[in-house]
Amino acid sequence: MTAPNRKSDPLQQIRDQILERRRFLITSHARPDGDSIGSQLAMAFALDALGKEVRIVNADPAPDHYQEFPGMERIEIATRVEPMTADAVIVMECSEPGRTGLAGLEREYLINIDHHAGNQLYGALNWHDDSAAACGEMVFDLIQALGVPLTPEIATHIYLAILTDTGSFHHSNITPRTFDICRQCVEAGVTPAVMARRVFDSNSFGKLKLIGALLDDMELADEGRLAVLHLDDQMLAATGSTHNDTEGLINLPLTAREIQAVVFFKVTQNGQVRVSMRSKYDVDVRRVANEFGGGGHKNAAGFTVNGPLMDVRAGIVRRLVGAIAEGLETRPA
Ligand code: AMP
Ligand code: MN
Repeated sequence: MTAPNRKSDPLQQIRDQILERRRFLITSHARPDGDSIGSQLAMAFALDALGKEVRIVNADPAPDHYQEFPGMERIEIATRVEPMTADAVIVMECSEPGRTGLAGLEREYLINIDHHAGNQLYGALNWHDDSAAACGEMVFDLIQALGVPLTPEIATHIYLAILTDTGSFHHSNITPRTFDICRQCVEAGVTPAVMARRVFDSNSFGKLKLIGALLDDMELADEGRLAVLHLDDQMLAATGSTHNDTEGLINLPLTAREIQAVVFFKVTQNGQVRVSMRSKYDVDVRRVANEFGGGGHKNAAGFTVNGPLMDVRAGIVRRLVGAIAEGLETRPA
């Protein structure tokens, strides 16, 4: 079943090229999240079913709590793609190829599958659908178009992609189709309680302590509508946690009713600052990310700053306060 608003042409072209080609390399963005892991592995299992040769190459390892999902051992970590090792490279979740962190992609036949607004359409084939709540929704369509049945492994990874990229069903890009795909995944053997526990309730003690430290340090702006979180390596050391443990923590302030948006500054050793933002309803943090050279979605976006946080912090906060004011005007009743 293909929803009427889906652009079916690129999907059919990608299906045809996949059926024609034999050796595939799958990749996604550096510092992979649940949608990138789920989309890549669902695709890999589907290509296995078609008798294709498949490799998955990522610039960074997945966070620990994803390691027990099926097929994780197949992910190779590298920062370069050797020429001629694949007939096509499937790039998922990347608005431009640089986000993979892989060198050598410019020589390859690229199949670009992404749901981020502002995708640069850099592939030989480009399928871009920013109405998809997760790239995993698009992979689901592609796997159906390829005629591959929904096995428990594929269903697990599609569900993982959707569960994580919707912020556990919080974001505003969720449609009836999101639940229809999830329903089919559950019918194929996925247990939602197990998925939710594995993804969201697998914290280390270090992470719990880090949550305490981060929230203790949290600053509020815009009369409590904006939360500002800050992390550096000293905090990780003091709480016995790692960078991996920071995943998902940005969502915590949004559990307070008044807070409409969160910005999380992660200062890394090399002097870079990762800036992550989350918001409720129509508060559009992607537009703020765009102004600083990043991207993402309305309710989840990010960018990287090369230089001291102090130089940009006030400007970022000011733009977020503006985004909150605009978003509140169209707040649903
Ligand atoms: P994060 O805060 O890193 O979890 O990212 C939130 C969302 O924004 C994800 O969909 C990312 O793919 C996207 N995003 C983060 N950083 C960038 C960037 N530098 N360029 C484009 N998209 C980004
Ligand atoms: Mn995604």
